Amino acid sequence: MIGTNKNISILGAKESGIGTAILAKKENWTVFVSDLGKIKTKFKNTLKKINVEWEEGQHNIERILKSDIIVKSPGIPDNSKTIIQIKAAKIKIISEIEFAGYYNNAKTICITGSNGKTTTAMLIYHILKKANMNVGLAGNIGKSFAKQVAEENFDWYVLELSSFQLDYMTKFKADIAIIMNITPDHLDRYEYNMQNYIDSKFRIIQNQTKDDWLIFNYDDPIIEKEIGQRKIKSKVAPFSLRKKIKVGGYLNNKEKQIIININENLNMSIHNLALKGRHNAQNSLASGIASRILEIRKSTVRESLGDFVNVEHRLEFVAKVHGIEFINDSKATNINSTWFALESMENKTVWIVGGVDKGNDYEELTKLVEDKVKTIICLGKENKKIMDAFQDKTEKMIQTTSMIEAVAYGYRFAKKGETVLLSPACASFDLFENYEERGNEFKKAVRSL
Ligand code: ADP
Repeated sequence: MIGTNKNISILGAKESGIGTAILAKKENWTVFVSDLGKIKTKFKNTLKKINVEWEEGQHNIERILKSDIIVKSPGIPDNSKTIIQIKAAKIKIISEIEFAGYYNNAKTICITGSNGKTTTAMLIYHILKKANMNVGLAGNIGKSFAKQVAEENFDWYVLELSSFQLDYMTKFKADIAIIMNITPDHLDRYEYNMQNYIDSKFRIIQNQTKDDWLIFNYDDPIIEKEIGQRKIKSKVAPFSLRKKIKVGGYLNNKEKQIIININENLNMSIHNLALKGRHNAQNSLASGIASRILEIRKSTVRESLGDFVNVEHRLEFVAKVHGIEFINDSKATNINSTWFALESMENKTVWIVGGVDKGNDYEELTKLVEDKVKTIICLGKENKKIMDAFQDKTEKMIQTTSMIEAVAYGYRFAKKGETVLLSPACASFDLFENYEERGNEFKKAVRSL
């Protein structure tokens, strides 16, 4: 796996790149870190401390091409000039997770999907912590996996894996793999080819054996089709909101209970689940199944599913102002997540939508918009697609590029008993640094109404 030459270049010097540098240095690699942008002072200080060479504002391609292996940040697209040159030189490119996996002895629960990864990863982590397990949380969230592999000694990791990380993983194996759902997202990075994106997500089960587990969403037509076509070696435990599942979990719609059938049977009323809404029932089911595979006590699983505090910017209740409810779902950056947000709206809704479109098909939202949305506020630099899709589906449509104005419009157009929902279905970087900044600005504007 690792040759005798140990020259590594790390492209991208943020959390994951710096973590990789720390681990690589510890394992006696000759390390070079390169970032096209500026490197934060705190990261530069770390690099100095561990005595690693670095550059910023450029990629010294000659130097990089001398590497035996290259670790690429998930943020760098495949069609960037540097990546094309590295591929032409046939140097192996891997992700931070793959690299850290070479040195990791702990078992892993890995979560992927288009939506629900963070929520599910945090929920599983919460349950395992409550069960007093020696567990770390990494991947797309929190501290770098590589850094933790270098510095910690966990028995288990909960890892949130995006398709960009999975793309550069070949040897890594998940002991428990979870696929939440697969709906169009990031297609701009997959040549607008859905199958490429699906294949990337399914890398999560590569290298699994009969002793491992795959937990997946039985109701998702794409996943179901893929599972039918692939040779699955691991044990499977699906979850469903529609169908009774023998080994796995499901929602009993009549009794309003979730039922988890792994090592005995665990029932829990959906009213006692901390996370509300149908999409969150899926997240609770997946988490409950994973926990029961680990044989965590039923009482601990129940208690944890009941007292989990949801992650910020995910259908987050902000405030009620003169009877108008404001909800922040800034993390909804694709159609599917916004679909669930609109579906869970119980009142007439003023919907704030827009940003950078990653290949959206708005038609999937038409029915929900007709049923629930009275006014659309487009918050983005380019709104034509949204305007065209919903022109005649709502009473009113308006455009703005300011969050303060969007919230003020929301407040003006919504009546008492109605809701203003920020659920953009788009990425944020036309107007904001990231989705957190977008959500925080929304909350600030609401609180100063
Ligand atoms: P990810 O890490 O995959 O982006 P998050 O847990 O951060 O997922 O949630 C992203 C968005 O998707 C939020 O708007 C959230 O309300 C919504 N969401 C959460 N879980 C699900 C799910 N299982 N299916 C669809 N949407 C979901």
